[in-house]
Amino acid sequence: MFEDNYRHKGMRRQLIRTLVSKGINDEAVLKAVEAVPRHFFFEQAFLEHAYQDKAFPIGEGQTISQPYTVAVQTQLLNIKPGDKVLEIGTGSGYQCCILMELGANVFTIEYNKKLYDQAKVQLRSMGYRPHFHLGDGTKGWPTFAPYDKIIVTAGAPTVPEALIDQLTPGGILVIPVGGEDHQEMLRITKDSDGKLKTEKHDYFRFVPLVGKHGWRK
Ligand code: SAH
Repeated sequence: MFEDNYRHKGMRRQLIRTLVSKGINDEAVLKAVEAVPRHFFFEQAFLEHAYQDKAFPIGEGQTISQPYTVAVQTQLLNIKPGDKVLEIGTGSGYQCCILMELGANVFTIEYNKKLYDQAKVQLRSMGYRPHFHLGDGTKGWPTFAPYDKIIVTAGAPTVPEALIDQLTPGGILVIPVGGEDHQEMLRITKDSDGKLKTEKHDYFRFVPLVGKHGWRK
């Protein structure tokens, strides 16, 4: 296991300053980023990359999301302690740790067996205990539905219907939707009558969401 020393903490504070300069202003989100040692998700040789504001390969053609993207999605979710959160695309598990630092009870789904196995070991070693599921997140996770918040961390061609269905009244779904090149970040809020409101927030570039209601592999 890696150590988390003053140098790493200093690099993390520098990253926080970068996020603030890019417009992240939610104190709780910034605190969560400061709390999670992102370099634990990197091999020692790539330490320098851990606190740069960029995505990085995690194997299997996938990436750990850019810190700015993680911060934007988390900020849009407006996590309250105790929120039941469904995450589609566990990947490295980094985003999941940020959600847990904010006090969320996280249910996270990964499609790729190798990444699923890795993330389980990684998060356990760091002391995080979300509910892990190996499967197709475009169908949601009906067993534990509904969820207060749902976050999709891969680019979707359209909004999967199941995710809307599995959102609690008053709940929020944050999902990047668009082509394979770039996607618009949508925040969809379901009001107490089940009516939906969609806000659009900037463009990002995610790896594709695959599965039944994603991009076909
Ligand atoms: N949240 C991750 C980002 C991972 S990248 C992190 O913090 O590191 C997106 C992930 O979504 C990849 O691991 C990919 O395998 C996964 N994915 C793609 N389609 C999926 C689907 N239908 N269900 C679940 N996971 C999916």
